[in-house]
Amino acid sequence: MSWDFTVEPEFQEQLDWADEFVTGTVYKLDVLWPHDTYRPLTRRQRDVVDPLKQEVRKRGLWACHLGPELGGPGYGQLRLALLNEILGKSIWGPRIFGSQAPDTGNAEIIAHYGTPEQKQRYLEPLLEGDIVSCFSMTEPQGGADPGVFTTRAVRDGGEWVINGEKFFSSNARWASFFIIMAVTNPGATVSTRMSMFLVSAETAGIEIERNLAHLGEPADDGTEALIRYTDVRVPASAMLGDEGGAFGVAQTRLGGGRVHHAMRAVGSAQRCLDMMAERALSRTTKGELLARKQAVQNMIADSYLEIQQFRLLVMYTAWQIDKYQDYQRVRKDIAAIKVQTPRVLEAVARRAIQIHGALGTTYDLPLTRIYASGMMLALADGPTEVHQTTIARQLLHGYAPAPGMWPTEHIPTRRAEAEAVLLGAPAPAGRDQD
Ligand SMILES: Cc1cc2nc3c(=O)[nH]c(=O)nc-3n(C[C@H](O)[C@H](O)[C@H](O)COP(=O)(O)OP(=O)(O)OC[C@H]3O[C@@H](n4cnc5c(N)ncnc54)[C@H](O)[C@@H]3O)c2cc1C
Repeated sequence: MSWDFTVEPEFQEQLDWADEFVTGTVYKLDVLWPHDTYRPLTRRQRDVVDPLKQEVRKRGLWACHLGPELGGPGYGQLRLALLNEILGKSIWGPRIFGSQAPDTGNAEIIAHYGTPEQKQRYLEPLLEGDIVSCFSMTEPQGGADPGVFTTRAVRDGGEWVINGEKFFSSNARWASFFIIMAVTNPGATVSTRMSMFLVSAETAGIEIERNLAHLGEPADDGTEALIRYTDVRVPASAMLGDEGGAFGVAQTRLGGGRVHHAMRAVGSAQRCLDMMAERALSRTTKGELLARKQAVQNMIADSYLEIQQFRLLVMYTAWQIDKYQDYQRVRKDIAAIKVQTPRVLEAVARRAIQIHGALGTTYDLPLTRIYASGMMLALADGPTEVHQTTIARQLLHGYAPAPGMWPTEHIPTRRAEAEAVLLGAPAPAGRDQD
């Protein structure tokens, strides 16, 4: 038996380097270009960003979510959790380290299901960080329920023709290609009626109707696209995975994605706590520091507790994924950290905003952005309620109904059993007759 929270010295050195690099250098990009992480970079931006990516590669920390077969170090989820905490503090961190969502999840499924041609065309530039991609699944009328998706792909000779509308397809405006989920067999069951397609952004018939902005993005210049696909023709070879296999492909993508969001959220929440502590030690009111006010101390203490509990659950989930190498087997805890991610982020960011007073509510501090990201993560990759259902269902698998009319813990029944066993009293009637 070994329970150990220490980190090997060599990896700790990597983490220390990453922390200094992110807070000392990458943070500067966050304030210079807060909305440009997915945009094709200008020449000037490339001159700044490319050498930073190169430093990360030299350090062996590029695309750490990938195994060696795809050019990553294959650190596993536990080490990745520690690194992602650091990257999650910064807007640009994931891009500079080659691990930004949704590109990581998209790369994962192309690596898993793609043909050699698809990998060469889409995966290689994606892994190099040269392009960004778009996952186009959610529909305006369908939301979280794939059973009602209507975007259709119809076979026409050697091609598929895609028609329909998708909602909240993140970064569509910057993407070089789209992964589109479309119904190919309307009569089949929910889990077999859809297929996945890899479609170049240059294909005729793709029209971005709107780029919706959410809280934290500039108004009318957002990243969440409402897209219309009209007679989008793709060759049969554009299908990713098997016909009817989109459900399985999407599940593969979402397992890792949810865990990585949670890992980064630990870092974001910690940043809020750090800011809270600094403010409490800096601001004086009614003759004493905020840090001496009990109400403020409660906020700091509660934030610490919530972050630590969350962090341990994230670590435990990462450890299980490394141990079993099977996202399905760890479903309950992946759902659990998905539920906790927005709760912890929102609660801690909200308190940090409160402690900073009016300033906390402005864009002069990163807190409203972090608070908004909590709200987003209660929906992205499936709403909280759906994951709560998963947790409850998985938990209930491990339980059975009570053996009779009374609960197993019914004290009079247990007392009668104890008297029969230990004191030789007449045996009680069976639980079933109680
Ligand atoms: C920041 C962000 C980025 C996103 N990026 C992408 C992307 O790149 N590609 C993409 O395809 N989609 C993306 N999405 C969409 C996301 O997958 C959907 O928002 C999500 O699936 C929920 O769909 P909906 O928003 O239509 O909500 P609905 O499905 O309409 O649900 C609304 C509410 O109803 C309740 N509800 C829904 N289902 C259940 C249930 N089964 N049980 C109990 N209550 C339920 C919940 O309270 C839920 O919040 C993104 C969303 C966000 C916020």
